[in-house]
Amino acid sequence: MERETIEFDVIFAGGGPANLSSAIHLTNLIRKHNEDIDNGKHQGEKIDIEDRIAVLEKGAYFGAHNISGAVLIPDVLFELLPDHKERGCPIDAEINRESLYYLTGKGEIEVPFTPSFLNNHGNYFLSLSQFVGWLSKIAEKNKVMMLEGTAAVEILYEGSKVIGVRTDDKRLQENGEYETPGYILNSKVVVLGEGSNGTLRKSIVEKLHLDNGKAPSIYELGVKEIYELKSNPLQKGECIHTFGYPFRKGLSGGGFVYCISETRVVIGLIAHLSSEDPQFDPHKELQRYKQHPFINAIIKDGKPTHYGARTLPCGGYYSIPQLTSDGVLITGDSANLVDSRKLKGLHTAIKSGMLAAEVLFEAFKMNDFSATQLAKYEEKLKNSWIYSDLRQSRNFTPAVAMGIPFPGGPLLGFQMAAGGATPIGDLKTKPDYATTEDMKHFYGSASPEPMPKADDRIIVSKLTDVYFSGTAHDEKQQNHIHLKNNTVCKKCISDYKAPCTLFCPAAVYELEQDTIQVNFSNCMHCKTCDLKCPFQNIVWNLPEGGGGPRYSLQ
Ligand SMILES: Cc1cc2nc3c(=O)[nH]c(=O)nc-3n(C[C@H](O)[C@H](O)[C@H](O)COP(=O)(O)OP(=O)(O)OC[C@H]3O[C@@H](n4cnc5c(N)ncnc54)[C@H](O)[C@@H]3O)c2cc1C
Ligand code: SF4
Ligand code: SF4
Repeated sequence: MERETIEFDVIFAGGGPANLSSAIHLTNLIRKHNEDIDNGKHQGEKIDIEDRIAVLEKGAYFGAHNISGAVLIPDVLFELLPDHKERGCPIDAEINRESLYYLTGKGEIEVPFTPSFLNNHGNYFLSLSQFVGWLSKIAEKNKVMMLEGTAAVEILYEGSKVIGVRTDDKRLQENGEYETPGYILNSKVVVLGEGSNGTLRKSIVEKLHLDNGKAPSIYELGVKEIYELKSNPLQKGECIHTFGYPFRKGLSGGGFVYCISETRVVIGLIAHLSSEDPQFDPHKELQRYKQHPFINAIIKDGKPTHYGARTLPCGGYYSIPQLTSDGVLITGDSANLVDSRKLKGLHTAIKSGMLAAEVLFEAFKMNDFSATQLAKYEEKLKNSWIYSDLRQSRNFTPAVAMGIPFPGGPLLGFQMAAGGATPIGDLKTKPDYATTEDMKHFYGSASPEPMPKADDRIIVSKLTDVYFSGTAHDEKQQNHIHLKNNTVCKKCISDYKAPCTLFCPAAVYELEQDTIQVNFSNCMHCKTCDLKCPFQNIVWNLPEGGGGPRYSLQ
């Protein structure tokens, strides 16, 4: 297939907060540098960036694939864009009230204090999809080429040096050819900011062994719904976190309720993919969560309007791979920079993007894009608050996964006093696919809780929720999800009862007469299946750009 080749200096693969902040910061630094030369403040060469820097985003528009809680610690936004409020940053509310509850089966106990890492006073509630849309407009104004609906599907190498990416082929025709072949985009540097478990990030980490000697990358799945309420018992800006119900053996994580406007609340759960339960189903658990009297009292006269799901990395400090190599940098969630103790990765994503931009700016000034220059990004990260915060959080996720309040609670208390250490040393983790137990081991003679009957108001079916996420793919493309071996599925169906039919938050996998059907059009790109199939039997490829969810408020 003939492909057009275009030359760039920097390609940002992925248009989330990490890479958009990086593109904005880089172009702001370059603009200031050029102005200083014009004004005679500095001597040197001006840097021409017209048509030299591009951001590729696989969503149909910037923000289409971005979902978060979202609570943003704003300090880093003041650093990136001090005048963000004047520039119309879409902030829903500033947090003015916060609480932490332990939920029992039917009741709740308010924790009399909020641990410092959950102190959210003054932080912003925002919709990540809207925030990303807003950041993209700023990058565009700064003359960054914004390529939405475009997936980077392959990293191009010369030996082990990254020299660019190939973009997706579009619209498969009956003769087996594509209407628009993808492009070869050559560039001096590729910045991978694909979010959690990025596909290109995974391929380069494997190819160049960037995670040698590191703890495994492990993940959580976040599912959330937005409710429109007739009467709202909460006040705008109120932030509630919960633990306890519905979490139990085989299901660990936390819940949240964010009141983002006079009439809207966000209800969500974050569940560790390290679950041993072969019938692990975070969407079902979200429905059970909403039946709890404490949550139900908030949403009882409301209706669901939006839904979304995405994994987030929670391995933190010990799981961060090498983040630079010849021709490439890795930012944000793709770098495993989420602080799971704070339940936040937006501030670290933005900061990592800014640090990458500072290194790229120096590279432009010295015309030195060598591996040695790019490696300064990793040094900067190690010397920043990101690494010191993540170090404090290094044992948080495995302690929560052990069970709260016992035995994980005392370990968390110890960590708070001991800068993240535990009395039994650093806690070890396993890759998420390796933790699932078979039905006999996990359930014995018991049975899984059934999905409560859907009424599509308090209990929402997966398919209705997929509708609320706006997800669709052009059916004229090849299925982007492949099952490697059907015989393996048969064994899994008999011993594990086909976990993919439950853990997928979008009902992509269905069991029909002992075989798995894949409804790829429903796929929300959360990446759970790539991580949690117990036999690693699922290959998730990047579909044509433009498909997937169409988030607007998530
Ligand atoms: C339910 C949930 C709740 C959360 N709550 C909070 C919170 O309250 N506060 C907080 O700080 N953090 C929160 N987080 C984490 C936070 O959302 C992430 O840390 C943050 O979004 C990471 O930013 P990013 O730019 O690295 O990745 P993303 O936001 O995931 O953006 C990556 C982008 O890259 C695109 N992309 C991926 N691969 C390609 C490719 N090959 N080609 C082209 N485009 C590609 C994706 O479509 C996406 O738009 C939450 C996460 C979830 C899932
Ligand atoms: S795809 Fe994976 S989880 Fe699904 S049935 Fe096959 S082996 Fe099991
Ligand atoms: S198919 Fe995989 S990536 Fe798509 S929604 Fe389901 S679990 Fe997520």
